[in-house]
Amino acid sequence: MNSAVRTTCPYCGVGCGVLAEMSGDKVEVAGDPDHPANFGRLCSKGYALGETTGLEGRLLHPHSHGHRVSWDDALTQVAQGFSRIVREHGPHAVALYVSGQLLTEDYYVANKLMKGYIGTANIDTNSRLCMASAVAGHKRAFGEDVVPGCYEDLELADLIVLVGANTAWCHPVIFQRIVRAKETRPELKVVVIDPRRTATCDVADLHLPIRSGMDVWLFNGLLRFLVQQGKLDEEFVASSTAGVADALTAATVDPAEVGRMCGIDTERILAFYRLFADTQKVVTAFSQGVNQSSAGTDKVNSIINCHLLTGRLGHPGMGPLSLTGQPNAMGGREVGGLANTLAAHMDLANPQHRGIVQTFWDSPCVASEPGHQAVDLFDALHRGEVKAVWIMATNPVVSLPDADRVREALQRCELVVVSDCVASTDTTALAHVLLPAAAWGEKDGTVTNSERRISRQRAFLPAPGEVRPDWWIICQVAQRMGFTSGFVFDTPAEIFAEHAALSGADNSGSRCFDISGLAQLDAQQYDALQPVQWPVAQAGGAAAARLFADRRFSHADRKARFVPTIPRGPAHAATEEFPLTLNTGRIRDQWHTMTRTGRAARLGEHLPEPFVDIHAHDALLAGLREGELARVATSWGSMIARVRTSGEIARGSVFVPIHWSSVFASEARVGALVNPVTDPLSGEPEFKHTPVRVEPFVVDWYGFVLARRRLAQLDVAWWSVVQGEGFSRHELAGRNTPSSWSPWARRFLDAGAPDADYLEYDDDTAGVYRSAHVIEERLESCLYISRRPELPERAWLGSLFARERLEDSDRHALLAGRPLGVPSADSGPLVCSCFRVGKGTIRRAIASHGMTDAREVSAKLRAGSNCGSCIPEIRALLAAAAREAAAGSEAPAGSEAPAA
Ligand code: SF4
Repeated sequence: MNSAVRTTCPYCGVGCGVLAEMSGDKVEVAGDPDHPANFGRLCSKGYALGETTGLEGRLLHPHSHGHRVSWDDALTQVAQGFSRIVREHGPHAVALYVSGQLLTEDYYVANKLMKGYIGTANIDTNSRLCMASAVAGHKRAFGEDVVPGCYEDLELADLIVLVGANTAWCHPVIFQRIVRAKETRPELKVVVIDPRRTATCDVADLHLPIRSGMDVWLFNGLLRFLVQQGKLDEEFVASSTAGVADALTAATVDPAEVGRMCGIDTERILAFYRLFADTQKVVTAFSQGVNQSSAGTDKVNSIINCHLLTGRLGHPGMGPLSLTGQPNAMGGREVGGLANTLAAHMDLANPQHRGIVQTFWDSPCVASEPGHQAVDLFDALHRGEVKAVWIMATNPVVSLPDADRVREALQRCELVVVSDCVASTDTTALAHVLLPAAAWGEKDGTVTNSERRISRQRAFLPAPGEVRPDWWIICQVAQRMGFTSGFVFDTPAEIFAEHAALSGADNSGSRCFDISGLAQLDAQQYDALQPVQWPVAQAGGAAAARLFADRRFSHADRKARFVPTIPRGPAHAATEEFPLTLNTGRIRDQWHTMTRTGRAARLGEHLPEPFVDIHAHDALLAGLREGELARVATSWGSMIARVRTSGEIARGSVFVPIHWSSVFASEARVGALVNPVTDPLSGEPEFKHTPVRVEPFVVDWYGFVLARRRLAQLDVAWWSVVQGEGFSRHELAGRNTPSSWSPWARRFLDAGAPDADYLEYDDDTAGVYRSAHVIEERLESCLYISRRPELPERAWLGSLFARERLEDSDRHALLAGRPLGVPSADSGPLVCSCFRVGKGTIRRAIASHGMTDAREVSAKLRAGSNCGSCIPEIRALLAAAAREAAAGSEAPAGSEAPAA
């Protein structure tokens, strides 16, 4: 890729470098071998980026009240609407809800507009939902929101503790770095602390499946144990910290009590404690399982306390490491994109800081009170206190807790402005003014990843239609509101220079976040900027991989703080009505609300529909069966999902992925179910623990349609849709079986083309109906109905859409629902997205070649040899094959194995 543009992946907080270039009309991507976050690796989502850049479904022009308008009209409407409401109701009656998908330059001007010119801190970000507890925890402990370490520490550590982090699926390139480190140094130990047995447990030497919400007990117990074992770094604690006595007073639990509270036997707790105590180089990496809790900030501090007590931070191979969810959550924190922070890591509550910022901005005011935080903001909208909101690059009607109330809040709101690159989302549907924003590939600016590394995101595609960058849109609105002097920027480079200069204003080392050494970059230097970790306080100065090696923190006395963390459980416990606990999270191949990953066929195949994962015993008690549908209900809302009993979840809890919206399935927004309770310090919602009930969603039939076009108005009891390669896959379920399927199906598939062949198979007795619609020898659509959820495999049927001409044998096979006489032609459900290798293919290869190692599978089928995200699943298939073989060999002589 000689002419490739160096840019960054727009998904998770790993912040991988990407090489992107056009090849004909296709976008080709590869990992950037020179980027220090990924050294050339990408995960399945990153590799599929090229499939997400098409213009289908893009928002290309400004709209107002459903009609296309000029940019001038749209910008004037937004500016006048915001100005009028500020005039009539004051500055706190307007708000911005922004996103970790924005670039730092977009974020900077949005924050400047609100806090420095309109005069309110009513700007919050969807990053509130994933890492606000880490921010609050860092500020309490270090005096500033600082991640002390870096990714390299994972390779240098002797013990990695992963807490509430399904790294294999949510930060896959970090996971691959851990896997390789462990292959290189088998003595490296990995402990996974997670209520679920996730794919990350594939590398775990020890898995602690603690009860949801019990992390503070676990780490308080560890703190006490470390003292008892004499592991306290007395010199460091005495000279560089404060508050240890109070923290120890709060940490009174012994391992037996920890075990009881966490639901784990004492020996396993002690095994973890001993490992931690006896290993100097420990990295504790944590993510949403820690942060997304009503006690999230205390969980973060209970982890940091253990590192402070042992002095294990600031040096290679050790320290707490917050893994952020989004590509630029950290950049948003730098500019003060949260409602309770000021720009450049300064504090709203600090008059001196407000003075620095106002002087630097030369602005009419600076907000002095925290604004509404995400959940609270939509409550204020619901109450009518906030009357105008501008939502940028996020989909809160799907992603926020109590999402039905969020939808209601927007329906009540006087002025809803949405900037997005996608035309149809649950949120854009409620916008009065829609502004077309640039998408990945068209954007130019910077992002900061989880290890404080600033990278350039560079445009390599022209902006289509009337699309504009977010920073330009914000500056145009600001100028139309009369704020001309502060928003005269022609390029993102100019904004970055101002942002960098502000970080150095009156700093002198009091704030770690200082990138003033980059403030003098000219346009060419900005364009050529190499990935760099902050701080960069001197032009040309070396960046710091790790902070706090000098034992000087950002509190006024330069000491770190132990924080007493009093253990408390989740806000709401299970009840008779809602006897289980709902845990939500990401899956391997989707991102957020699927507005982009939902376009890539290869990403849709792995887990193609909304599901609820439940323990087999709980499923039995609730009358649920694998593959059938269930209604999942809480006090706040309900949804429908496919029942899955993966074996990954403990009794008493269920897991539902966060990604599905009304665009991809009926009644599938799990956000509508989530308790809106938040952590009192961080404002982060409790996404991991909502009391829930799961019950059968009874239907008369199940089915699916594969069709070249997406079907509109699916008038059935339940549906979901996912993009396949050249077709859409619709899963269906219905009540009221029609007296005859044929007319229903023909109407459904619109098989009215005069030259269409319509093939049918109808077995009324068995309740099976199948049909295929063929036009000019090509498969147009096929439909499969059954009384039972067991239906033909979709993978092989989907492959028929690539054929220019169907053979007679294909037509027969279509109605049979499987390849005839060639069993190996059906690859089964997808495992490896990169090389599109299915479960059936892998199983057959394992059986016929007697494979026992994932590397053999990779060598034979390539599965797992690229991004490696599927290796845990390949290992699970190998283990299952080994168990089956062992069971077979133990069978008494003469007995036969049951048919597969
Ligand atoms: Fe993108 Fe995957 Fe890298 Fe995350 S790990 S930045 S999703 S390529």
